[in-house]
Amino acid sequence: MISDSLGINNKNHLTIGGLDTLNIAKEFGTPVYVMDETQIRKNCRLYLDSIKEACGDKGLALYASKAFSCMYMCKLVAEEGMGLDVVSGGELYTAHKAGFPMEKVYFHGNNKTPDELKMAIDFGVGRVVVDNSYELQTLNKLACTEGKTAKVLFRVKPGIDAHTHDFIMTGQVDSKFGFGLETGDAMEILHVAKQLPNIDVVGLHCHIGSQIFDKEPFLEAAEVMTNFIADATAETGIVFKELNLGGGYGIRYVETDNPIGYDEYIGAVAEIVRKIAYNRGIEMPMLLMEPGRSIVGSAGITLYTVGVVKDIPGIRKYVSVDGGMADNPRFIMYDAEYTAIVANNASAEPTEQVTVAGKCCESGDLIIKNATVPRIEVGDTLAILSTGAYNYSMASNYNRIPKPPVVMVREGMAKLIIKRETYEDVLKNDIC
Ligand code: PLP
Repeated sequence: MISDSLGINNKNHLTIGGLDTLNIAKEFGTPVYVMDETQIRKNCRLYLDSIKEACGDKGLALYASKAFSCMYMCKLVAEEGMGLDVVSGGELYTAHKAGFPMEKVYFHGNNKTPDELKMAIDFGVGRVVVDNSYELQTLNKLACTEGKTAKVLFRVKPGIDAHTHDFIMTGQVDSKFGFGLETGDAMEILHVAKQLPNIDVVGLHCHIGSQIFDKEPFLEAAEVMTNFIADATAETGIVFKELNLGGGYGIRYVETDNPIGYDEYIGAVAEIVRKIAYNRGIEMPMLLMEPGRSIVGSAGITLYTVGVVKDIPGIRKYVSVDGGMADNPRFIMYDAEYTAIVANNASAEPTEQVTVAGKCCESGDLIIKNATVPRIEVGDTLAILSTGAYNYSMASNYNRIPKPPVVMVREGMAKLIIKRETYEDVLKNDIC
């Protein structure tokens, strides 16, 4: 199995966190997202422990809540002692309502509105990660009006090719995010920030992309960023207390995916930063990282019911399920790959190739193209694995399809943490 959360019981049913997925499907209906809380907590601890071992008190792991944000998840992350990355007023508001400690919140985004920035100041978020010069000026003005000083990091593009899908690669010069190093924009904004009375420059941030399996681009980013800190300190006199190296660590969607050991990576990064800091005579900054996908991704699955099997001889066999791009847009966005298991016949050997399609009115509404699976019948429960990240959080109401519920499995119990939307929920903002 590609995830530690999964198993097969004596009825030949797929289990998650030890619970029979067919019972979950029966109790909550399909489609349904199911997540293993024990695995999520384990993943949080792996990051927290590794960063502690590598950096002592001068390190912190933040959970990138864009991967999966809801009040339950914010509470869980707070209990584990991680910080939180939010990227919109909605994610910030979710964290606030969940009682997340605001001083551990890092607010990202390439086009934060003045209202969102005001909300951040009012809530007392720990850091605003400034993306552009308009934002810096607006933040300074708002902080001045409120009689506060905003603690900021600057998002920098280290100019690194992260070997991932173009749409999730963010550290290169041609990116909408952050200030370029090569262009001189990053240095320039630091000079500007130094003059602003209500801005306190605490550090720098970069994020090179997502679903990355190579260690090298991360190490390169750490090297480039630490050298830039040394250059910027020499030029501006700013002492950078924090270096946030973002997230992006790949997870296993299919057998051939080979994720790097996160703990091993953190140790290697800390060593590079420490060495450069020592050689260049600057203070070792506090190291932060922001994993999202690798905290929740493989801890989640989606259960669907197969409604139609359509064989087009010599061309393709389509297996259509009761969800699709509205609950999982990753195939249509990035050609993402997944693994399917027939939950009611979990150990059956694969015998044929099918394409798993959704129910939306788009030919591209697929979940898996050319999946190798055992024979699938109408009425089977199909589990798509590793859907814990960027599924619920990217879900839409396309075709007015209500969003599925999220069930958290813990200590042999299945708990509903997000209710299934009803048709009335879908209509609730319509005015006629
Ligand atoms: N930090 C930032 C700024 C991001 O943009 C992202 C993802 O887009 C992440 C962290 C989390 O990345 P991942 O979920 O791949 O770990």
